[in-house]
Amino acid sequence: TKKTETHTFQAETRQLLDIVIHSLYTDRDIFVRELVSNASDALEKLRHTQLTGESIYDEKLPLEVNISTDDTAGTITIQDYGIGMTHDELVENIGTIAKSGSKAFASALKEAKESGSDPLNLIGQFGVGFYSAFMVADEVRVYTHSYKEDGENLVWISDGMGEYRIEQTEDSQRRGSKIVVKLKEDAKEFAQKSKIEEIIKRYSSFVQFPINLNGDRVNTIEALWLKNKNEIKPEEYTEFYKFQANAFDEPRHTLHFSADAPLLINALLFSPKENIERFGFGRTEPGVSLYCKKVLIDDKPEGLLPEWLRFLRGVVDSADLPLNISRESMQDSALVQKLNKILTGRFLKHLATEADKNPDAYTEFYDQFGIYLKEGITTDFTHKDKLAKLLRYESSLSEPGKRTSLADYVSRMKEEQKEIYFLYAPSRDSIESGPYLEAFTARNLEVIFLYEPIDEFVMNHLNEFEGKKLVAADSADVSLEDTDSSPEHKLTEDEQKDLSKWLKETLGDKVTDVVVSKRLVDSPAAALNSDKMMTPSMRRIMKAMNQ
Ligand code: ADP
Ligand code: MG
Repeated sequence: TKKTETHTFQAETRQLLDIVIHSLYTDRDIFVRELVSNASDALEKLRHTQLTGESIYDEKLPLEVNISTDDTAGTITIQDYGIGMTHDELVENIGTIAKSGSKAFASALKEAKESGSDPLNLIGQFGVGFYSAFMVADEVRVYTHSYKEDGENLVWISDGMGEYRIEQTEDSQRRGSKIVVKLKEDAKEFAQKSKIEEIIKRYSSFVQFPINLNGDRVNTIEALWLKNKNEIKPEEYTEFYKFQANAFDEPRHTLHFSADAPLLINALLFSPKENIERFGFGRTEPGVSLYCKKVLIDDKPEGLLPEWLRFLRGVVDSADLPLNISRESMQDSALVQKLNKILTGRFLKHLATEADKNPDAYTEFYDQFGIYLKEGITTDFTHKDKLAKLLRYESSLSEPGKRTSLADYVSRMKEEQKEIYFLYAPSRDSIESGPYLEAFTARNLEVIFLYEPIDEFVMNHLNEFEGKKLVAADSADVSLEDTDSSPEHKLTEDEQKDLSKWLKETLGDKVTDVVVSKRLVDSPAAALNSDKMMTPSMRRIMKAMNQ
């Protein structure tokens, strides 16, 4: 007997479907790419399972993707012999949204549009690929049979409106999944072989498995990362990045290298053009995939790179990895730590070179991704010093909008100057009109300007740079020499004492001390920070937390 069950989509899923269908309508082509990339993912997962020695249903089937178009029936079918899905996986993986949900997606989309970013970039990152089929479909059917020996023959059916149903099917199915897309009246072009061929050539040329279209092979399989650099055209890198990162922007940095000591590796790393965490998505997942001799071991390996490099995309292939390494044991394997060290070192070196040779391009990168470098300084002790060299700030000597490195600051320091000074405020204006800067300007001392609260944490974590202490210019223990522009004191010593005493009594608990100072030039008084551990922005944060 055949079992049918009907499910309703969660409200979140329904909204998301609605957004995907309507806001991305102009780029309907991409559903082909999304379904092919799911087929390829399913094959990668199967290949990995094979290596672990688990027994597999229909073991002998070839690892390939078969696409067929039928312009009489108005359908396109994408079929793979990958891992397939069990009943619960069908419900969980394609009946539900895995990530942060439709609200986050909708607001991210809005923001992306406002800032002129390509909204397409978001679908890939959001994992709503499968739903893109509903842009062109009246109905989508997913026939599937899990690789597990006790898998059932199942079909998932939906018109993408409010419900889906799952049925057991009688027809004997092969392992894997077959997605049948019944095309809408206005989307019949996707039942044309030539149209699909063109889309596959454009979007899916790096799929690591054969793709057959109506029985003909349409792709050549290439592991770009193993090829010689000299044989690769820039546009091939771009295409590969788009394919591998499921992205629509262009890579900002492309770093392709190989090494044979201490490990044999081939790596192809990209930094994206845009920082998508900016759109309020929450944390991006790590995106550098780990391969062993062209076989995918893990597409989001934890620990392959430090957390603060989670924005990197690409591929690392190491022939030294044991093929059957499990994802769990990999996380803390010494091999992965070695890879981490090599990759991080190479990328940092690449950034240092960029900053030196192409400062403008580096500034653009820094605007998007500087926040990650700062995160690195506060969380990753090993790379702190190299990261510190990559910081860029405005200063009292820089033009507005122009930034300096700490190294350049140090090179401008006068011999007597022992410390690097910084001031935090939300903007240049508020620093320049505040009472703290004048004392330094009057003494020709450069001050670094910090505009983000995290920058104070960064300075605290660094504590020093090239042996020079980093000191907040509003802290009480900065001692400055008298200058010619320090005004004569108009009050006698007794009057000074009385005024200080009166101020202290009046202000009470609000201050720890009131002192006469020659530090100020024009301002009558300034509050100085006596607590080295508690900077003003930390105080603001504590206050916000009601502490
Ligand atoms: P993503 O691929 O980013 O996870 P998708 O919306 O494209 O998001 O797919 C959702 C999930 O559905 C996949 O993660 C996978 O678990 C499952 N899935 C989709 N297509 C297939 C397929 N052909 N074979 C097996 N599982 C699939
Ligand atoms: Mg997908």
